[in-house]
Amino acid sequence: MAKKQFKAESKRLLDLMVNSIYTHKEIFLRELISNASDAIDKLYFISLTDSSVGLNREDFEIRIEADKATRTLKISDNGVGMTKAELEENLGTIAKSGALAFKAEHENADEVDIIGQFGVGFYSAFMVAKNVRVLSRAYGSEEAYVWESSGEDGYTVTKGKKASAGTEITLELKDDAEGEDYSRFLESFILSSLVRKYSDYIRYPIRMTAERSRRKEGSSEEKPEYETYFEDETLNSMVPLWKKPRGELDDEKYAGFYKEKFHDFDDPILTVHTSAEGAVSYTALMYVPKRPPFDFYSKEYQRGLQLYTSGVMIMDKCEDLLPDYFSFVKGVVDTQDLSLNISLETLQHDRQLKTIAQNLKKKLKAELMKLLDNQRDKYEEFWASFGLTIKYGVYSDYGANKEFLSDMLMFRSAKENKLVTLKEYVERMAEGQDCIYYACAETAERAAKLPQSEQVLERGYDILLMTDDIDEFAVKVIDDFMEKPFKSVSDNDLNLESDEDKKKTESLNKEYAPLLSAMKDAIEGVKEVRLSGRLKSAPVCIT
Ligand code: ADP
Ligand code: MG
Repeated sequence: MAKKQFKAESKRLLDLMVNSIYTHKEIFLRELISNASDAIDKLYFISLTDSSVGLNREDFEIRIEADKATRTLKISDNGVGMTKAELEENLGTIAKSGALAFKAEHENADEVDIIGQFGVGFYSAFMVAKNVRVLSRAYGSEEAYVWESSGEDGYTVTKGKKASAGTEITLELKDDAEGEDYSRFLESFILSSLVRKYSDYIRYPIRMTAERSRRKEGSSEEKPEYETYFEDETLNSMVPLWKKPRGELDDEKYAGFYKEKFHDFDDPILTVHTSAEGAVSYTALMYVPKRPPFDFYSKEYQRGLQLYTSGVMIMDKCEDLLPDYFSFVKGVVDTQDLSLNISLETLQHDRQLKTIAQNLKKKLKAELMKLLDNQRDKYEEFWASFGLTIKYGVYSDYGANKEFLSDMLMFRSAKENKLVTLKEYVERMAEGQDCIYYACAETAERAAKLPQSEQVLERGYDILLMTDDIDEFAVKVIDDFMEKPFKSVSDNDLNLESDEDKKKTESLNKEYAPLLSAMKDAIEGVKEVRLSGRLKSAPVCIT
């Protein structure tokens, strides 16, 4: 049988898996279970409108079977399955675009980064298996196919037999080697603890047939005889994390869930778990990442929260739940109030959804402000990662969100050489100061040393040092904060000179008019040369 070859990109990822030295190889199980769960989601979704599926909610399951004699581990589901073409397409040409882009960008990134950041999906099976066999029958098809590969040398697709729709993945485990105990994945207590650790919240039962032992009927209590029997055991609680009572949850559980679900390597900076009952009922679990995702500034980045209704995921990235300026937030929203069959168009206009979105953004802001008050370091870390996004939020939509966002802003203070909020700036304003002064340059140091800054600082007035292109646009949109207008130190009408000084400057300008005009003519592209009372230690400045 001629082997088909993996696409080049997939091959690279696959090689990484086959030769993996990653220490958490156990995550292969969570990846395969998560795929099984996705496949069941798809068929369950179809079953809601198509009675010919013939399965009820409680009929769906994921099964794990281990066979020590053949060193095989089988993970099966009765989900939507794959056609022959889908087997080839989905398993032969996996290009975890995220993972590969990351690898390309970070030449030296090792596999730990990649696996940690992205999970590697189906191919992670090759970290523990020397052979992987996928028997699948697509829903609506009479035929089943087998995809098989031992990693390096391509794969085959042949005809197979399967009674109903679904997928069965059989892993032939690698041989144990020094420091690498693959046999443990055949032990039911290990498997069940891995399921509890990584896949507890999967909404379909993950079952395993456990071997049990009991006293033989008829054998006496004094001289008991035992027999083995088999019993189905459901390994996961099936309660999604966000539905669990708060008392059962702690930072570690929240962070673990976040890292696994959203493929992040770091703990989140902020976790927001909130629910509401009433006009609309929902539970939301939201996270603010520590750092922007690698593709955050690319066009491919899609904002949104995962949307569930009645325990079924209906949208992976629901944009309408998050404003642009909170596009870095990750999370899930679960509500009973939406119909399962809601179409994308209706969803966009759904009033319930709009109310939820309103509540969530207020809650997010409130929690961020709490962080500012109670854990300043963390807020500043947040600001370093996402301040730019918030500033764009102030500026965009003609400033429609400036009221909402302006107290989140931070700028570097020239006087204090640290970040301050606008409120802090205004509260610390010197007597007689009636403007919020700012200076723009490439770096904070330069902004502070601008010739125009000197005069302001000399008066004892602080200056906000602005280094991002967006900064000045943002404050111009805000206009004034706590009734104090913003003023650039480079403005002509700073009005810091006394009337007497002004008169003096004016008369000097008159006196030297011929010289100034000659200078103007001598320097190309200059509109005017004039004497200024604003400069202190610098001889000239250009405006
Ligand atoms: P991802 O789950 O992120 O899409 P994976 O590498 O885990 O990536 O899986 C690749 C694709 O293979 C899936 O998107 C899905 O289409 C298909 N697939 C994998 N496992 C199954 C399964 N058990 N049933 C149906 N399709 C599957
Ligand atoms: Mg997957």
